[in-house]
Amino acid sequence: MKRRDVIKGLSLLPLIGSYNGHPASPKEQKSTITDAPAFRPADLFDELGVTRYINAGGTITVISGSLMMPEVMEAINSTSHDFANMHELQDKAGAKIAEMLGCGGAMVTSGAAGGILLGTAACITGSDPELISALPDVPGPKREVIIQKGHRNRFDQIVRTCGARLVEVEGAAEMEAAINERTVMAFYKNNAPSPEYHTTITHEEFVAVAKKHGIPTFIDAAADVPPVDNLFKFQKIGFDLITFSGGKMIRGPQSTGLLFGRKDLIEAAKLNHSPYESPIGRPMKVNKEEIFGMYAALKSYLARDHEKEWQSWLDRIETIRGQLETIPTVKGATSVAPGPANAYPRLQVQWDRNRVAITPEEVSEKLKTGTPAILAGGRGDTLNVGVVLLRPDQVDIVAQRVKEILTEALRA
Ligand SMILES: *Cc1c(COP(=O)(O)O)cnc(C)c1O
Repeated sequence: MKRRDVIKGLSLLPLIGSYNGHPASPKEQKSTITDAPAFRPADLFDELGVTRYINAGGTITVISGSLMMPEVMEAINSTSHDFANMHELQDKAGAKIAEMLGCGGAMVTSGAAGGILLGTAACITGSDPELISALPDVPGPKREVIIQKGHRNRFDQIVRTCGARLVEVEGAAEMEAAINERTVMAFYKNNAPSPEYHTTITHEEFVAVAKKHGIPTFIDAAADVPPVDNLFKFQKIGFDLITFSGGKMIRGPQSTGLLFGRKDLIEAAKLNHSPYESPIGRPMKVNKEEIFGMYAALKSYLARDHEKEWQSWLDRIETIRGQLETIPTVKGATSVAPGPANAYPRLQVQWDRNRVAITPEEVSEKLKTGTPAILAGGRGDTLNVGVVLLRPDQVDIVAQRVKEILTEALRA
C-alpha cells in the first residue's frame, strides 16, 4: 500500500466525533531532526512480511488490540516534533483527564496492566521514598491485598509483582475478618460476572467494608467500555483506584491505559513510575506521544455519539447478515455480550450442515488463511463475526468472503 492509500484508509475509519482533518503527511510537517530522512517507510507490513488482518473479532491484545482513531494519530504526529518535561506532561494531562472523569487524579499508564502495578505500588508505598526504592522487598511482613476467591485471574500476578500476597475471601464477613495491619489494598475484578468468575461481594459492599477500615479499593475495568457510563461509575460507587485499557474500545494507543481515582494515590503511583530512574514502574514507561494520544483518544471517546455508533454497528450486522442469508439454511442473529467486558454487538451465524457442509471452525480457519486474512471466531455450531473494529470498507469484504466460503460448501 502506498502512503496515500494508508491515509485514505485512515480517512475511512468511522469519523465519529469532531475530527475532520488528515494527519499531516511527513512533508507537510515541520522538519524533525533532519530534512533528509535516511529511510522513508513505504509498506512496512510488506517489507517485514507481516500478515495484515481484518479484525472481525474483538479488541484482542495478541492481534494488536484496536485501531487508533485518526485524531489519536494526529495527536501523536503533531506532538512528535518538540520536547516536553514528562512530569509536567503527565501532571497536566492527568489533571484534565481527572476533570473529564470527575475524580481527584489520573495518569496515563502502560496499559491497564501497568495501571494495576502502579496502583498496587502506590497503596504499598504512599509517598515514602524508602518504600518506593525498596519495592518489591519492603521491610517487615509481606503486605496483603484482598481479593475475592472467584476474582483470581491471570492479571493478578501483577499485584504479586509488587511483593504483595493475595488473600482470598468469600462474602463480606470474611472480607472484613481478613483485614489486618498488613492489608494495603482490596482488589476487585469488574468483569467477574462472566461465567469463569464468581462474585460473592457486590461493588457497594466491597467499598463499604474497605472504607470502614481505611483500606484503598482498586477496580480493574480494563475492557469495560462500552457503555461509556462505566468510565464514571466506579468513582461514584467509591472505588479509590480504577483502571481501563487505552487500547481497547477507547481506541487509544495499544500500549496505554488510564489509572484514576484518589489524588494522593495517583501522586504516589507517579512516584513509582518513569521518568524516575529507580522505581518498580520504571520499565512501564509511556512516551510523550502515548500520553498525548491517550488524552486525545479519551476526549474523542467522550465526545462521540455513542447511540449513533451503536446503530452503525447494528447496520453493519444487517448488511453482512443480508448477504449471508441468501445462502440456503444460513441464519444470522445479533448478539450482545452480556458484559461488563466487551459488551458490544456481533453477528452470530449458523447453518444446516447437511446443506452447507463445513464447520464454523473450518470457516474461521479459511478466513484466517485466505486473502485478505480475516479473523473471526468459529466454535461449536456458531461463526462469530465481529463488526466494531472493521473499517467501513471491510464490511462488504467480510460479507463476501464468508459468503464465498459457505457457498463453496453448499450441497445440491
Ligand atoms: C485487557 C485486560 C487487562 C490488561 O490491560 P492492558 O491494557 O492490555 O494492559 C487487565 N485486565 C483485564 C480484565 C483485561 O481485560
